Amino acid sequence: MDTKVSAHDGANSASVVDGDFPAAGAPQPLQARQHRYLQALIEAGLLIPGGVDGVYGRSAEFEAIVDGLNIAFTALGVDQHAEVMRFPPGMSRNHFEKSEYLKSFPQLAGTVHSFYGNDRDHHRLLARLEDSEEWADEQRPTRVVLTPAACYPIYPVIARRGVMPPEGCVVDAMSYCFRHEPSLDPMRMQMFRQREYVRLGNADQVIAFRQLWIDRGQQFAALLELPHEVRLANDPFFGRCGKIVADSQRELKLKLELLVPIHDGAPPSACMSFNYHMDHFAQVWALRTADGAPAHTGCAGFGLERMVLALLRHHGFDLAHWPKGVRATLGGL
Ligand code: ATP
Ligand code: ZN
Repeated sequence: MDTKVSAHDGANSASVVDGDFPAAGAPQPLQARQHRYLQALIEAGLLIPGGVDGVYGRSAEFEAIVDGLNIAFTALGVDQHAEVMRFPPGMSRNHFEKSEYLKSFPQLAGTVHSFYGNDRDHHRLLARLEDSEEWADEQRPTRVVLTPAACYPIYPVIARRGVMPPEGCVVDAMSYCFRHEPSLDPMRMQMFRQREYVRLGNADQVIAFRQLWIDRGQQFAALLELPHEVRLANDPFFGRCGKIVADSQRELKLKLELLVPIHDGAPPSACMSFNYHMDHFAQVWALRTADGAPAHTGCAGFGLERMVLALLRHHGFDLAHWPKGVRATLGGL
């Protein structure tokens, strides 16, 4: 199993945003081009500014594309007989702590805080607010954290059920996720949705599942007429040990991504990821296969906002002019 590169590089059609760029002169730096795409999306009403970088409202048209993608992902995975689980965008802090997310990505995590004080504390909080002083340290953490990836709440649920059936199981998950990575690049939001198919079973089952979804992901991108390629991923693991973990992730080929070019001359953006966690989650949770061995897990994750933005970038802001086949793939959009 190695990286694959598709032959769809010629599929790049109408470019919405580059048409707006200055035709001559020095090429704009990447950040400026990202910001320009964001502004174009806001001017077209597709994204609604939320007052902080990476947090946006979505228009009816934007959501219609998300709905179309969800219909298509359901059709694409119909043979998986997946159990549908939908969790809210917050999850148990206890479950989050056990998952060891903080070991790898403390810089991306978000926790929910609230006020536990008395009347006097409340007055102090209001006075600090009035004086435009920092007031957030008047709050303390709750038992809720923001979900970092749609599959995180799933593992303790399956573990609680006890030993899995011989065929293992597949879960269809979707959630808003939070990552503290404020950016002017609309492809990098702080709050965005992931749709995932999550596989739990033995190593062979999970490896076969991942390959199936790498192939399906590419077929799907081709149906959507998006230029794309699949490559080994490089996650931003935190700290001095992070490089070792990242090297090992690449060495073991644990994560591949389907990338779509968004800005000319810039690295393409990951719109889907195909992950093999080996038995990591079975070390944390009592995930056992039918023969009592620690289960292996993997997931195919689709970034819904990034997919929408890739479609808008390559097919234009006017949905009525999108290629017929693309609209048909998205449930007759
Ligand atoms: P990247 O390498 O670009 O930071 P990632 O490797 O962190 O992405 P995953 O953790 O694999 O992404 O998440 C699965 C999918 O969720 C990604 O392929 C992408 O489509 C989407 N995604 C991840 N981070 C963001 C974000 N900040 N904004 C929008 N979508 C995102
Ligand atoms: Zn996942």
